[in-house]
Amino acid sequence: MLVVQKYGGTSVGDLDRIRNVARRIARYRDEGHDVVVVVSAMAGETDRLLKLAYNLVEEPSPRELDMLVSTGEQVSSALLAMALNAMGYSAKALLAFQIPIKTDELFGKARIRDVATARLKEEIANGNILIIAGFQGITDSGDITTLGRGGSDTTAVAIAAALGADVCEIFTDVDGVYTADPRIVPKARKIEKISYEEMLELASMGAKVLEIRSVEFAKIYGVPVHVRSSFTDEPGTMVVEEDESMEKVLVSGVAYNRNEARISLYGVPDRPGLAAKIFGTIADAGIVVDMIIQTGRPDGRADMTFTVPKTDYKATLKLVDKLAPELSIEKIEGDEDIAKVSIVGAGMRAHPGVAAKMFQVLADHGINIHMISTSEIKVSCVIDEKYTELAVRALHEAFGLDRAPEEETL
Ligand code: ADP
Ligand code: ASP
Ligand code: MG
Repeated sequence: MLVVQKYGGTSVGDLDRIRNVARRIARYRDEGHDVVVVVSAMAGETDRLLKLAYNLVEEPSPRELDMLVSTGEQVSSALLAMALNAMGYSAKALLAFQIPIKTDELFGKARIRDVATARLKEEIANGNILIIAGFQGITDSGDITTLGRGGSDTTAVAIAAALGADVCEIFTDVDGVYTADPRIVPKARKIEKISYEEMLELASMGAKVLEIRSVEFAKIYGVPVHVRSSFTDEPGTMVVEEDESMEKVLVSGVAYNRNEARISLYGVPDRPGLAAKIFGTIADAGIVVDMIIQTGRPDGRADMTFTVPKTDYKATLKLVDKLAPELSIEKIEGDEDIAKVSIVGAGMRAHPGVAAKMFQVLADHGINIHMISTSEIKVSCVIDEKYTELAVRALHEAFGLDRAPEEETL
């Protein structure tokens, strides 16, 4: 079997844990499997590096920032390979440029374009355990990029897809995907099996247990993903194609995201092409807009509200401020203290009334809804950030997620 394993920051957080991970990898090897490992930086390291840069200058240049933050994974991959070598296993650490893992040039949020497999296959054939630095890539012109926070998941799944691995195991500090973040919902339950589509929605709605692009890759290439704990041998959660049992579950999980900010443009002239101009300008800056609401007004103008990642908030405000005179936008306003709470479930397709129930639950707790968006299997509401925990716990309980799945009712 060819197994790709990814170990997150906590799992390689200190030398004892690195030894522990090395022993687990060795065990797979002893069982006769080929193992390719992807590691994150040691816990806290990426934050520490980012802080260094931002304490030095207000707006670090993106290229140099990636040079800096990509180093965390170089350290952990080298240490893990050393630990294995010392145990008598032949292991080799590899950085993205040595493979290479090619990306586009969007520093800080680069997208993987191609994973070359020649060297990987050769090293595996030579009996080496490969320890690959996650989170990083290389552009055609040889510059180092990073994939965005949590990006080692994406490295792992992309490598599993490229190599046609039998499974991609994501080892983390929880023992699977839960019905909600167990850190804020103590009653959350572990989900045994979840569809790519539901996982995609949960991840894009903020459940950071898997980075969203890793789920996209898994879905496109049909890579079975197993999310599990690096501290136990218990099976975790399988992320796989949807099957009939999943359709029956109305709501599978609740997610929240506190990393977005809202921007409102008031009195935008109601003319064809204006939305294209505004959102085209924002997209050209590499900023991903999430929710968008446009409402017409009796005076022939429109109000537009949308959300962007908090890290892009100031840059987006600058862009729209610059556009305002030319487009004769009346007023621009924004709010960083928002959160998005979402419920996700394949069963929603067949059941009306789920959204209404969500709004009622929030209303019963005195929580005002600022924005709403829906997809076939998801409903999201933007609320004041201070109500995040309350909303997530209330929804978790109201949709019966505190109990076993059979008992769920609308
Ligand atoms: P790693 O460093 O291993 O990549 P992360 O911190 O990125 O780990 O992801 C694991 C964390 O994701 C958990 O500690 C948990 O708090 C959080 N999380 C959020 N939503 C969920 C969920 N639905 N199920 C499990 N964990 C979740
Ligand atoms: N080290 C990077 C981060 O902290 C990537 C990852 O851990 O997946 O975001
Ligand atoms: Mg992560």
